[in-house]
Amino acid sequence: MRILLIEDDPALGEAVRDHLAGLAHAVDWQTRLAEAEAALRAVPYDLVLLDLGLPDGDGLAFLKRLRARGDTTPVLVLTARDRVSERIAGLEAGADDYLVKPFDLGELAARVAAVARRYAGDPNPLLEIGPLLIDRARRIVTKDGAPVPLSAREWALLEALALRPGAIVAKERLEELLYPMGEEVESNAVEVAVSRLRKKLGAETIETVRGLGYRLKGR
Ligand code: CA
Repeated sequence: MRILLIEDDPALGEAVRDHLAGLAHAVDWQTRLAEAEAALRAVPYDLVLLDLGLPDGDGLAFLKRLRARGDTTPVLVLTARDRVSERIAGLEAGADDYLVKPFDLGELAARVAAVARRYAGDPNPLLEIGPLLIDRARRIVTKDGAPVPLSAREWALLEALALRPGAIVAKERLEELLYPMGEEVESNAVEVAVSRLRKKLGAETIETVRGLGYRLKGR
């Protein structure tokens, strides 16, 4: 997924970014609301991780503005404010979930995956396509019951296609998933990852829709 992390604590921001990047998410990290606002207007994010105390403003007010203008990007609030009233205020402002600091990075990753599944309208993490079983919660894919090891990029691509089986996903969208902001996009990165996935999962698994993008064969 393409994730916007808004967190001004350098150590925590780095730990969260590195952990999620290691799970094949493309993470853009901003430490101020002004930059985060600009990034949100420029990039279609799948999820926002939002700290509440930022140097140039209040994360809760930021979230309220976001929702007021109709932005429905899922938001997971990261907060040291552990008082119940403040959690309720966060949810009322339009947060999808929250984590109280200090939190476990494994729990963060699980919450991130759960918010993404809810947003995709599919709370079931298991997707079965022919001989393939894709477990989006545990990030495992098996073919005829045998696990198929995937690289981070291959998984990111498969997950994006698996979120909408049978639907065409634009190549540009897949490129955005493979590269965080500021990184040079290699022109054939998506083709390379698709071809590796086909070798591992079966040539018929991913269909090329010429000029438009790719899609995962439906059930
Ligand atoms: Ca902070």
